[in-house]
Amino acid sequence: MALGGKPTEKAVFLDKDGTLVENIPYNVDLNKVKVPDSTREALRALKGLGFKLIVVSNQGGIALGYFTIQEMEKVREWFMEKLKSLDDFYFCPHKTSGKVKKFVKDCACRKPKPGMILEAREKYQLDLKNSWVIGDVLDDVEAGKRAGCRTIFLDAGNEREWRKGKFRQPDYKAKNLTKAVEIISNFRR
Ligand SMILES: [Mg+2]
Ligand SMILES: [Zn+2]
Repeated sequence: MALGGKPTEKAVFLDKDGTLVENIPYNVDLNKVKVPDSTREALRALKGLGFKLIVVSNQGGIALGYFTIQEMEKVREWFMEKLKSLDDFYFCPHKTSGKVKKFVKDCACRKPKPGMILEAREKYQLDLKNSWVIGDVLDDVEAGKRAGCRTIFLDAGNEREWRKGKFRQPDYKAKNLTKAVEIISNFRR
């Protein structure tokens, strides 16, 4: 960022489960995680467009006691190692209905709240108006909209509730990550 200027870096914020990889609920077993070639290609293409690539993932399984924050840290490291295009990986360990006291919290980071995105904005001096959020549920869309990003909803069948709301109308819909990248690369061409 230029001194005293506006932030110029832009990012694509990516949900993990159901967006980068198949949605396997509460999974931290890395043997079960398969990163599709299409995901690798999508990330490379976005990187080529000049975006920082940042994962933002709800991991309420930690608050629920299904797995530990240490196990999730290993998942985070694995993704950062396997997908070199990624710049960062945030996850929220909280859930109000959890059982592990330390993580039972109405936090500011669990999507649909925009906390993880706002934290990344500070760290990387991001221009959120020119940044994007891609996710497979409307909570991803809401987090992105609340942060002032453009949003792409991946209509992969993972949204079940379709709760309506002011921030829950995506700017675009795509049937997969590859199509989402096409939308971003064609934007304002
Ligand atoms: Mg998801
Ligand atoms: Zn949180």
